[in-house]
Amino acid sequence: MARSDLIKPEIRSIAPYVPGKSIEEIAKKYCLSADKIIKLGSNENVLGPSPKALEAMVGHAQDINIYPSADAGELVSAISKYVGMPEDMIVGSGPGMDGLLDGLMRLLISPGSEVVISTPTFSYYELSARANGGTPVFVRRNDDFSIDVDSLKDAVTDATKMMFICSPNNPSGNSMSETELRSLVENVSCLVFVDEAYVEFADRTFVSLVNEYDNLIIGRTLSKAFGLAGLRIGYGIMPAWLKVEYMKAGTPFNVSSVALVAGSAALSDEEHLKRSQEMVREGRKYLMDYIPFTVYDSQANFVLVDVSPVKAKDVCEHLLRQGIIVRDCTSFRDAGESLIRVTIGTAEQNKKVVNGFSSF
Ligand SMILES: *Cc1c(COP(=O)(O)O)cnc(C)c1O
Repeated sequence: MARSDLIKPEIRSIAPYVPGKSIEEIAKKYCLSADKIIKLGSNENVLGPSPKALEAMVGHAQDINIYPSADAGELVSAISKYVGMPEDMIVGSGPGMDGLLDGLMRLLISPGSEVVISTPTFSYYELSARANGGTPVFVRRNDDFSIDVDSLKDAVTDATKMMFICSPNNPSGNSMSETELRSLVENVSCLVFVDEAYVEFADRTFVSLVNEYDNLIIGRTLSKAFGLAGLRIGYGIMPAWLKVEYMKAGTPFNVSSVALVAGSAALSDEEHLKRSQEMVREGRKYLMDYIPFTVYDSQANFVLVDVSPVKAKDVCEHLLRQGIIVRDCTSFRDAGESLIRVTIGTAEQNKKVVNGFSSF
């Protein structure tokens, strides 16, 4: 028996996660100096973290010999204020929203379980479901990237545990409507997970609907608008009955003590958030107006560019040579080969992006 036979087959068959490219990787490959490279491939906040979060981290650095609270209570309390929902409907999550997805899959999935995923979208729903032995069922979005409500409903079977909808969607940037969401939640037997990773840049949130339905969960993160991707903080808003079950299956102490204080401080830093939102609003308009390809309207901190009939990989290569990292969406299921996702940068960075696309 080969040692690798010890590994569960559902894990061995997974294709590895493809992250956005790093500055180090591109500096080496193209012989560029790292400080000349702009990283707009992973939807991070180019303004950096909230200064209040930094201050809180430094102030608590000497306490890391002590375990944090098991249930991330301080953070849950800060989130409760920020979102206006009660604490018994909120869970904090250590390794980002990805950790929340893992926790939920661990809670729900057994062999034969299915999850429904609206594609093209964030790939970790599929990975997390598969790693836990679940079977993903994919339903393509319409050509304009709106969700296909009827097909999503039809895809639900007695084995379906959860349906994943990202809004605003990564990588297309559009949000679903409240009517669409209500129609799904009211007509399916499974849980519905709405990923609001980019909601701070959008014109709508569905958080308050969690009060109305016992099968709706909202996932959020501090990695994007709040600029704390490196700290790995996410959270979920879910019906109280589900939080009770979630807390039984989740790993205790999964939000670090430094993350707890930094996350709470970031959520209260309205000025930093406002600055980030304004930069994104202006940058989004600029990129939509000046990138000389089809650019989709977006409610997130990125835009999706369709370069067809050219291949995304060729345009990305052209940009990389100039030290501009964007995201080739070819690895996203059902995204085709001509889509590129570009994170909104500073005015100066956006100008370079436009020049990069224009010179292709
Ligand atoms: C970035 C991202 C996440 C993951 O967030 P983390 O909290 O950093 O794990 C989840 N969903 C979507 C759609 C994302 O783009």
